[in-house]
Amino acid sequence: MEKYKLNILYMYPELLNMYYDVGNIRCLSKRLEWRNIDYEIIEFTMESDNLDLTNVDLIFIGGGSDREQMIVSNTLRKFKDELTDYIEDGGSLLAICGGYQLLGKYYQAGGEKIEGVGVLDICTQSAEGEKRLTGDILIQSDLIGHTIIGFENHGGRTQIGDYEPLGRTLYGYGNDDTSNEEGLVYKNLIGTYLHGPILPKNPKLADYILTKALKHKYPDFDGLSELDDILENQAHDHMVNRLLGSKNLIHSNFIKNH
Ligand code: GLN
Repeated sequence: MEKYKLNILYMYPELLNMYYDVGNIRCLSKRLEWRNIDYEIIEFTMESDNLDLTNVDLIFIGGGSDREQMIVSNTLRKFKDELTDYIEDGGSLLAICGGYQLLGKYYQAGGEKIEGVGVLDICTQSAEGEKRLTGDILIQSDLIGHTIIGFENHGGRTQIGDYEPLGRTLYGYGNDDTSNEEGLVYKNLIGTYLHGPILPKNPKLADYILTKALKHKYPDFDGLSELDDILENQAHDHMVNRLLGSKNLIHSNFIKNH
């Protein structure tokens, strides 16, 4: 049997790791290890020169403060062509919060404009004095047919135009404070405001991402084996129940089989 292997690229770990977003890499690698699938984690830092994505199977970009985003922006924008080709070709990419915003055209943070790499036709804005969108968040995602839980803390409001959202917000905010939409899906790219880190408590999403990356690299890949996710699911369900029980719930008419 062919031995499968995923090469995972973590971009700017020294700057974009808000709320320990690197936990997503830990989660992905552990879930591969448990299935006896090889992986390699490659860190791409501000010191790295060329972004060669030829052998990359999954890219991860975390969140950061406006200051950190500003630092990353100038460097990241140099790699628009490489990132565009990778995404258009169906490469997998997970971007969280600040990283998600940076894939768009710009993030206007009060008087300061942070230019994005522009691989997504989205814009983010936060007006001077506007409240931050922060707290626990629960969404229902058609993509994975399941709820996703996390934590958000962002000033930016993102307009995703015609893109598909990652999910519908049931509790919390998501892309902004009016649309009830959270995140974005384009081909095998997922952008989301959810920290947490998002993947450990949402194993279905973690496996969705791994499956897409493996199928893209190995067209005959016939699916991941099941893992014992009792603890992960308990953590997930605990938060779902806690948030659903809250009076701040936005939509109450949902979910039979989350
Ligand atoms: N600095 C951005 C904002 O406040 C992103 C924050 C984050 O990554 N959590 O909108």
